[in-house]
Amino acid sequence: MRIGLFGGTFDPPHVGHLVTAVNVRHALDLDLVIMMVANVPWQKEGSRPITPAEDRLAMVDAAVDEVAQLVPGRIEIDHGGHSFTADTLRTLAAKHPGAQLFTIVGDDAAAGLLTWTRHDEVVALSQLVVVDRPGDPVELSADIDWIRVEVPHLEVSSTDLRARFRDGRPLDYLVTEPVLDVICERGLYGDADTDPSFDMGFEAGAESIGQPGATRA
Ligand code: ATP
Ligand code: MG
Repeated sequence: MRIGLFGGTFDPPHVGHLVTAVNVRHALDLDLVIMMVANVPWQKEGSRPITPAEDRLAMVDAAVDEVAQLVPGRIEIDHGGHSFTADTLRTLAAKHPGAQLFTIVGDDAAAGLLTWTRHDEVVALSQLVVVDRPGDPVELSADIDWIRVEVPHLEVSSTDLRARFRDGRPLDYLVTEPVLDVICERGLYGDADTDPSFDMGFEAGAESIGQPGATRA
């Protein structure tokens, strides 16, 4: 069995994540790609409020629900505390004896790999797979055996999406509709859920495109 581990904060999960996961799955003939929701992402702690892990998991669940061979992962949430890829790989190896593991990262995350806790274990337990993100090419350590997989470059980030939410700009086509539903139902990133006429435009047809945030206050 060939299993891809694609970890992230997923705050929120967007089309860049999904396009990456399905293209790496295809390119490397993976049986499964696990979108692993970080419990406490140590790299991001303190820099901004992070949406509760169970809400981020609900969004990832919604994102992959209809997508073949993509599954949400809650190992890091169940483990509690800080999330370290080395620990997650150990748990996956124990759960799936004999499986080949692939750790999938965007190049921005890959650039910091040598700062990861027990990165030598990550390298020992899995094959690293790097995808480019838009922007300047990132220099990767020549000492590590990376595989690069070409995926469409989508200039979307969760940081940008959160900013869009704050200013009421549309998120149409940047996140999938089921993810937007979870965001609205749970009132994540603002109070849009309290407004019953809130609509990002998926069902309203072409006229809604470009109307920022529809009726958001
Ligand atoms: P934030 O802006 O909050 O850091 P993000 O969009 O970078 O969010 P993360 O949850 O930090 O998303 O990323 C999880 C993984 O997905 C990382 O390996 C990251 O490099 C990768 N990734 C994120 N966005 C893209 C994208 N548009 N294309 C390819 N990979 C991406
Ligand atoms: Mg990021």
